[in-house]
Amino acid sequence: MKTYRNYINGQWQAARSGELMAVINATTEEVFAQVPKSTPADVDLAVASAKQALPAWQGLSVKERASFIENLAAELKKRKADLVDMIVIELGAAKTFTQKHQVEGSIAEIEGLLKMLSDFKFEEEMAHTKILKEPFGVVACITPWNYPLNQIQRKIVPALLAGNTVVVKPASDTPVTALILAEIIDAIQLPAGVFNVLTGSGGEVGDYLAAHPEVSLISFTGSTEVGKRLYDAAKGQVKKLVLELGGKSVLLALPKGDQVLAIEKAMRSILNNQGQTCSALTRLLVPRDELAAYEAGIKTFYQEHVVVGDPSDEQTLVGPMVSAKQKETVLQYIEKGKAEGAKVLVGGEKLERTGFFVQPTVFSEVDNQMTIAQEEIFGPVLCVIPYQDIDEAISIANDSIYGLSGAVVGPEDIAYEVAKQLRTGNVWLNASPGNNQAPFGGYKQSGLGREKGLYGLEDYLEIKAIFV
Ligand code: NAP
Repeated sequence: MKTYRNYINGQWQAARSGELMAVINATTEEVFAQVPKSTPADVDLAVASAKQALPAWQGLSVKERASFIENLAAELKKRKADLVDMIVIELGAAKTFTQKHQVEGSIAEIEGLLKMLSDFKFEEEMAHTKILKEPFGVVACITPWNYPLNQIQRKIVPALLAGNTVVVKPASDTPVTALILAEIIDAIQLPAGVFNVLTGSGGEVGDYLAAHPEVSLISFTGSTEVGKRLYDAAKGQVKKLVLELGGKSVLLALPKGDQVLAIEKAMRSILNNQGQTCSALTRLLVPRDELAAYEAGIKTFYQEHVVVGDPSDEQTLVGPMVSAKQKETVLQYIEKGKAEGAKVLVGGEKLERTGFFVQPTVFSEVDNQMTIAQEEIFGPVLCVIPYQDIDEAISIANDSIYGLSGAVVGPEDIAYEVAKQLRTGNVWLNASPGNNQAPFGGYKQSGLGREKGLYGLEDYLEIKAIFV
């Protein structure tokens, strides 16, 4: 079994306490690696090293910093197979999905941002005024397990391009992917201290890192519950916060829209990554007089496509949940849905097998006030909610504490008008391929700020006006 170390100040270091945490294979339930169980003493070292590295890193030109990020993208390509294998092991995501969306998607986002960088103005002029965009300083990046590479790159790439230095605290369920990323960063010889990563529990080191007086910006992706705690942690020093939080997104199928497309989009979004995607379209709103046709279409899709199994098998669509805890959470929501009177259309049973597997489940005739329609389940569970007219559909869609993503399927002109009325940061129309440089982030309790592309870069820059 391999034992990993933290990467602090360009060196591999064990936790000061010497303690380790086990990392579990989601498919076999076996411990396959150990990582440091860091404590606040390790955080102090990492933050000090990031602070020390700041002046020299900030002193480089944007072009010089960008050339390190170009090397990072090249090195990520070389280590693609290792990253895919590790994400399959520790997260349990299906291999084909992992290759395309977890790893290649991350590299494409980095390369896309580098291409657009020359469009970004780090300095601007107004009458008698120079506007400068400057780094914040040391950035704390606290990340979840569901996209263990992408959630980190979305923070460190813009933060570093902007001239900040970073300390990353990855999720405890998927820490090894972050430490492979550290190996990649070591290989490109990024100056010591510019990037640091330490593993350990959120409650102990995440909390301490966020509240650290030398940290100027907290960039967090994770649950709304922890996001609110960090809001509190930031207030003492009025720290800048970037929060990417939970979601309960809707696919709104318009009357007489393309039912096959709507079903395909909703089902894939709750099956890919086992539904552990913040922007998954977990509520499918359908016209009441088309409900029977949608139910039949979902059953057909399920029979034809759903393969639950070993995520390293390329035929598998749905692997295990990340952990025993996540499996238990999803199973409890499925029981809650049954108890609240939702109709089980497909799935809904327990799977007796090794690995944190749950049976993908679709509930129909769901009322939007039910717990399964209001709370984020973060698993392969879809709620089909019938509506009478479009006004009611929009009001159901917006009746949520979240506002992350959404989709509308139907005639393009009506769909666009409906999209404008959804209180969410993203809306997909019909079969749009999207754009990996478009801003991503949430309204309401789904977050603060935006990630991806030049909008994401802006969040890592202070703005100064010098009157000349
Ligand atoms: P989580 O429990 O909030 O944990 C996220 C990170 O925060 C982990 O590194 C965790 O460490 C750490 N943490 C936990 N408690 C902390 C505390 N008190 N102080 C500081 N850090 C703390 O979320 P998760 O279960 O990993 O991820 C699932 C959630 O992320 C879902 O709600 C999902 O919607 C959201 N998400 C949002 C986006 C987006 O872009 N909007 C993207 C992906 C995921 P430990 O692992 O050690 O507990």
